[in-house]
Amino acid sequence: MPITLSKTKLMAYISCPEKFRLRYGLRLKPLKDDPALLEGRAIHHLVESGLMYAYAIEDVLPVASMRFWESTPFESCGYDSIKEYKHAQALCLAQSQKFLELIGPMQVMAVEKEYLAILTDPFTGEVFDDITIRGFLDVLFQGESGPAVIDIKTVGRTPSMPIAHISLELALYGYLLTYPDYWDAKPIEVAFLNLIRTKEPKITWDKAVVDIEAFEALVTTCRQVAEAIRLGHFWKNPGMHCGWCSFRGLCHGNNLLAIQTFGHHVIEFYQATKDVMAYQHLHNSMNPQDQAA
Ligand code: SF4
Repeated sequence: MPITLSKTKLMAYISCPEKFRLRYGLRLKPLKDDPALLEGRAIHHLVESGLMYAYAIEDVLPVASMRFWESTPFESCGYDSIKEYKHAQALCLAQSQKFLELIGPMQVMAVEKEYLAILTDPFTGEVFDDITIRGFLDVLFQGESGPAVIDIKTVGRTPSMPIAHISLELALYGYLLTYPDYWDAKPIEVAFLNLIRTKEPKITWDKAVVDIEAFEALVTTCRQVAEAIRLGHFWKNPGMHCGWCSFRGLCHGNNLLAIQTFGHHVIEFYQATKDVMAYQHLHNSMNPQDQAA
């Protein structure tokens, strides 16, 4: 069975295989967007737009903001009132302007650029043609030694330690950018750009370089994850991260929360599919609500 692994799918499976099953297998999607996630997406979009069109930033940002919120009307969001919804729009715009000031000028080559690659071992050249890797690079810019990658994170507090040097996500972006010339390529500069939504917005940079050894480790992980998905290895991995997982109502037996999040059909559907582990069966969409992922 061919499998496409995006960064989001890979990270979902690694953090909690049950989350992967519910999200990508059963294709369950919340009825309304969570405000915190939505605002993160809005700021992400505005900052990317501002970086790409820095020469016209004052014109671009209000238009980008308007378009973003038009595509996410009040009815589709989890805000309690129109006032909160409007307040979020103004706050995201103001914080994005501040973040862009803090980032400063940058030689941006592209934003949200899509890359696809058939999984290939960087050392041996062996091709795993049933596994495709897909990724959207947030920001591609001209680094000191060539094209470099930034992954934007919108967070509520300053990260406690640097993780770029061990990040699977950044290795995946470097892998896609280098594909298929791993032997000849220079190490790729990568960075997390943390946009910190404290009262006074701040940014931090977490920088690293990724090379062929990181790509080898990534290929091994992708092969293991793809195989585990094919074999139907899905289990719950409860922890602190359940606190911001949409599926906690289902997993933790809180039916009221589950119904609020996904609608009335969800309990029956979840019970009926609890033991269905084969990904190919899940993937043929058993979801009667057709909530496409
Ligand atoms: S609530 Fe926790 S255990 Fe359940 S899917 Fe989410 S992360 Fe996994």
